[in-house]
Amino acid sequence: MSVDVLTFGCRLNAFESEVIAREAERAGLCDTVVINSCAVTNEAVAQARQSIRRLKRERPDVRIVVTGCAAQTQAEMFAEMAEVDRVVGNEDKMRGEAWRDARAAFDFGFDVGTSEKIAVADIMAVREMAPHLLDGFKTGLPRVFVQVQNGCDHRCTFCIIPYGRGNSRSVPMGAVVDQVRALTERGHAEIVLTGVDLTSYGANLPGAPKLGQLTKQILRHVPELKRLRISSIDSIEADRDLIDVIADDERLMPHLHLSLQSGDDMILKRMKRRHSRRDAIEFCAQVRRLRPGITLGADIIAGFPTETEEMFARSEDLVGECDLTFLHVFPYSKRPRTPAARMPQVPGETIRARAKRLRAVGEAGLQRRLASEVGATRQVLIESATQGRTEHFLPVDISGETPGAVMTLTIKGHDGARLIV
Ligand code: SF4
Repeated sequence: MSVDVLTFGCRLNAFESEVIAREAERAGLCDTVVINSCAVTNEAVAQARQSIRRLKRERPDVRIVVTGCAAQTQAEMFAEMAEVDRVVGNEDKMRGEAWRDARAAFDFGFDVGTSEKIAVADIMAVREMAPHLLDGFKTGLPRVFVQVQNGCDHRCTFCIIPYGRGNSRSVPMGAVVDQVRALTERGHAEIVLTGVDLTSYGANLPGAPKLGQLTKQILRHVPELKRLRISSIDSIEADRDLIDVIADDERLMPHLHLSLQSGDDMILKRMKRRHSRRDAIEFCAQVRRLRPGITLGADIIAGFPTETEEMFARSEDLVGECDLTFLHVFPYSKRPRTPAARMPQVPGETIRARAKRLRAVGEAGLQRRLASEVGATRQVLIESATQGRTEHFLPVDISGETPGAVMTLTIKGHDGARLIV
């Protein structure tokens, strides 16, 4: 048996798991499972631990390596688990050397002490980002992610990500264009640019190119690319070129996901966010004027410390003010070492109740959009034998079409979750 990689968390981890699988196999590892973990919530860390225990029960002879953001931020905790053979850092995981070292340690054959299991470098010392040119995704899915940026220089008070991924760094534009071309030539119809803080793209590169410039370069130098999508952005950091591409280029999909987090200015200040409620509303109105019909989604946290009922109500009505279609609701999760963990906490049942209310408001936004699509003609990317997605990222119920094809289809209705053609 070769190497299996279990991926938790975000699109970055999905991209990185492809690199891990390649490097671990090249190192000759076998009978090994790699847990590429997430640390964004306590729940995510608990899921990784549960998976490790279950895995060892089901396959007692398998070697278990834990990597990812939870391994980077809580290495000792994982190393103390008897089921775990090795803990590899979030940057280390991208290098063949880490997997050759793991192989050597496993070939050594003796059980080692907790500290010897840990191969985690100081993530804050990482300054550069080596391109990892993939010539395809094992998944073979029509839509694939390309990691163009990693880490973050901001320090939002609720967020543990910078401690798991380090400071912001970007892949040089030329390498990104080569990666996109390779994946397009391999038949992947849609590329999603991904990063931790995508709008800080290029800050550490010569000439400090911005995300908009990168997007323009990709669309200019890979004319055969059908669909380019951008994952989550910080709207206040959207540059002029990016706004131009959103307005003018049909190959950039009319769908943006925004990191809004709250609708209340005092809470945004206590989160150390860089935008105000008014900035968020104005950005949404601006991109709608420039690209009519664009779909917008957002991340919003429910129950951030000190959030009162009135403050929460401003997050609730921000959904309508920005006419959001896709709402990702995060019940506030106290993360170790973050400033928000030391603020007066909102009771757990209140956090859960607010998250439930916010999801309901989000659901109403999705229903409004699904209903407004009936009668429209859309470009649908066939993702699998049963599902496609429009350029606006709305799911479509299909059957018998070829995955990877982009079809022009007229929307006849919806079933409350997916469009019907
Ligand atoms: S911008 Fe804020 S929320 Fe996003 S990764 Fe950076 S610190 Fe975390």
